[in-house]
Amino acid sequence: MTPHEPIAFHFDARVLEHDTGLALHEAAESPWFVANEPHTEGRLRIERMHDILERGPLADRIRFAPGRLAAEDELARVHDEDYIAAIRRATERGGGWVTGTTRLGSTSYEPLLAGAGTALAAAETVMSGAAPMAYALTRPPGHHAQRAQADGYCFFNGAALAADAARRAGAERVLVIDWDVHHGNGTQDIFYERDDVLTVSVHMNHGAWGASHPQTGQLDEVGAGAGIGYNQNIPLPLGAGNAGYLRSFDEVIAPLAERFAPDMIVCASGQDASAYDPNGRHNVSMPGFFGIGQRVRALADRYSEGRAVLVQEGGYNPSYAPYCLLATVEGLLGATPTPDPLAYVPDQTLGLDTLFAAIRSPRDE
Ligand SMILES: [Zn+2]
Repeated sequence: MTPHEPIAFHFDARVLEHDTGLALHEAAESPWFVANEPHTEGRLRIERMHDILERGPLADRIRFAPGRLAAEDELARVHDEDYIAAIRRATERGGGWVTGTTRLGSTSYEPLLAGAGTALAAAETVMSGAAPMAYALTRPPGHHAQRAQADGYCFFNGAALAADAARRAGAERVLVIDWDVHHGNGTQDIFYERDDVLTVSVHMNHGAWGASHPQTGQLDEVGAGAGIGYNQNIPLPLGAGNAGYLRSFDEVIAPLAERFAPDMIVCASGQDASAYDPNGRHNVSMPGFFGIGQRVRALADRYSEGRAVLVQEGGYNPSYAPYCLLATVEGLLGATPTPDPLAYVPDQTLGLDTLFAAIRSPRDE
């Protein structure tokens, strides 16, 4: 198999200046600690992803490309104008907590425009033919951002903007595949009544989580109006692991793609399904992410002339998330998989009943 063409990684250092401050994991910092920690969605995770791409084994197969600022009228293609203005004014007033876990800094607005604009830049690279695949290495994530609601660290929905940009540039049917460990409720909301963008979200079964996230991520959320049948949720049980994700591709996403016949693929690429993520409970490891990358490549080769746009979403363990991104890209490029430096003995298919029965039986006799 010949190696695939290089992949363009769009990055804009301005996204690092979105300051989420100190926190107790993702919530307001606690007075019980002398030293609080950086908010989970901080710059370190993206800086280390950039490092591993620039200095790691794929360095000669990756081409870095710039991001750009999104204009407000571009954001208004998927968000309400009043909502955009409210986010801008909130930063001008000094920022603060927008939801219980979602924080805006006083200088966050330009970084948020860079975050969204970098997704647009990646879409433009692919749609112009400059590269077959492009990845927006950006932050904060975007897939929880609904038409008029911030949620889960997200303000503007980069994956939705990329899908919309692909439509405007001539793609007729866009398949959005979201493997962030959380439900892509924002992307679902934005395209819920459309039949030209098929949204699929693989996620842990966390359900609705409050006023900012009323969507459930369940099977019965199938779209509305013309969009009925064009939203597919895959709410996996906790601990679903590599098998849960790869079977989702093979048994759900591949047949959906066969019916929908997309001519463009947009991916919401998270690494928070990893075994070490503070925000996920899905135990995916590097071989799982490698398999995801391989499957995206196969879908792109089959349906979209090898083209795909990937937008960075979650992935919050700064040690492991970069390796999971590396594994994903190795799968995309058909590269040799890098050994997992944090590999662990996989979960057993647990025989707890058998174990406890064995422990009990001497006493019961
Ligand atoms: Zn997530």
